[in-house]
Amino acid sequence: MNSNEAYQKHYVAVIGGSVAGSEAASMLAENGFRVVVFDMNRLPYGKIEDGLPNWHINLRNRQIQEIDKKLNHPNIRFVPLTKVGETINFSELVNDWGFSAVIMANGAWKDRHLPIANIDKFLDKELIYQNAFINWFNHKHEKNYKGKKYTIRSKNLVIGGGLSSIDVVKAIMIELVKNKLKQQNIDVDIFALEKYGIPKILAQYNLNFDDLNIDKVKLVYRRTARDMPLKSPKDGSLKSIEAAKTVSEKILTRYVEKFLFDFIPLSVPVNFTEKEGKLTGVIFQKVTLENGKIKPIEDAFFEIETEMLVSSIGSVPEKIEGLPYQYTSLKMRDDADYHVFGYDNVFAIGNAITGKGNIIESKKHGKQMTEVIIDKHLTDDAFEKWLIAYNTQLKNDVHQQIEGIIREISASEIQPEAIIKGILDKTDAIHTKIGYSTYIDWVTENIPVRLEEILKK
Ligand SMILES: Cc1cc2nc3c(=O)[nH]c(=O)nc-3n(C[C@H](O)[C@H](O)[C@H](O)COP(=O)(O)OP(=O)(O)OC[C@H]3O[C@@H](n4cnc5c(N)ncnc54)[C@H](O)[C@@H]3O)c2cc1C
Repeated sequence: MNSNEAYQKHYVAVIGGSVAGSEAASMLAENGFRVVVFDMNRLPYGKIEDGLPNWHINLRNRQIQEIDKKLNHPNIRFVPLTKVGETINFSELVNDWGFSAVIMANGAWKDRHLPIANIDKFLDKELIYQNAFINWFNHKHEKNYKGKKYTIRSKNLVIGGGLSSIDVVKAIMIELVKNKLKQQNIDVDIFALEKYGIPKILAQYNLNFDDLNIDKVKLVYRRTARDMPLKSPKDGSLKSIEAAKTVSEKILTRYVEKFLFDFIPLSVPVNFTEKEGKLTGVIFQKVTLENGKIKPIEDAFFEIETEMLVSSIGSVPEKIEGLPYQYTSLKMRDDADYHVFGYDNVFAIGNAITGKGNIIESKKHGKQMTEVIIDKHLTDDAFEKWLIAYNTQLKNDVHQQIEGIIREISASEIQPEAIIKGILDKTDAIHTKIGYSTYIDWVTENIPVRLEEILKK
């Protein structure tokens, strides 16, 4: 057990330690609750570590520091390398461990399936999904990188339409230019290319883009540049929506000028071509928009040849057995969209709910919903109700111990000693197995070497 863990209110579990999870854990801890934060990865930084492309040096460092500050709290036990749904069964966690509440802050890690029949036969060969692609891009320089390995080819195609798909396009264009310049003994790092853009960097060496003989990456989107969610409207008014659309179009134009890719709007993928078992192209159908709805144009098909297709059409929460889902999203109660359907004490915050959002939105949602959870669902009365229900469903010896002391315990707002011991023993066992001692030691030992540090040497 961590020696500085203060014995205060009852134990709550938070699944996922990143932006939303660390916000929830810190608020709970500050309010006297004891929290176990489970994360499937070594580090609790989620999409900050593996989603944001690594050129966001300052943003990433700032967010990591914030997460560390929040999770390094005496009331919080961080339990890494523990995937709920795999390492720990979700039903056991909710029903047997004895947490008075479980907050899902597990983000959205499953790429939406590219809707072309049989396309997945090319998976991780000519077809790559965005989450795996950015993970590779961010970590490929690490000596002990053990993830999937990709090679950027000459003809690259990206299907998508949000900031993440633009990040993918940028990453590919930057790699292509960097590699071509290297062949001419010019060393330019990705940070300079991202900051100044390709034309400015080439101008420094009196080069034109055409001299490099690079095929521009093609970004295909089913709507128009104005429809890209690059700028959120201030409010729901028509004026704000139109203003946001105009800004989105300008942002896209600016990216095209800076990173020299081709943008192809109003087209949806319908089929593919292949040769000798390799993907060689994607067939698209042109569409129009009628009252915001996509309408395919008859007989308007075209093919884009490709050697590497990255699908970047969004992420959804990974399904966990035992949780209810409606299509790809967690099923929430009608009256409370943070409260998971069918459970009294399971909640969800951040990207885990919609799969969409950004850092600010995840943080804000984590904060607002945790406030509500504390005020409405972690009160003394709610705790007593939970304790009675928990006790009733127990069929083991813990039942006997709880029976007599339930009133006394609910007044002091802590789980019975047997439950606390169970939580501490189980999490201690995981800590011992993985060699975890303290939060700060763990994250310091496990933080990967950064590309910017390597380049400085
Ligand atoms: C390519 C890309 C670029 C982006 N660029 C920006 C940007 O420029 N600015 C911006 O504001 N936002 C950006 N975002 C979005 C932003 O990164 C996310 O919205 C935000 O980090 C989500 O925070 P979260 O805590 O809700 O989820 P995540 O960061 O996804 O955290 C979820 C955590 O849960 C853990 N977890 C998942 N499943 C389990 C499980 N079963 N058991 C235990 N642990 C689990 C994960 O390991 C992770 O630590 C970008 C995203 C992507 C993909």
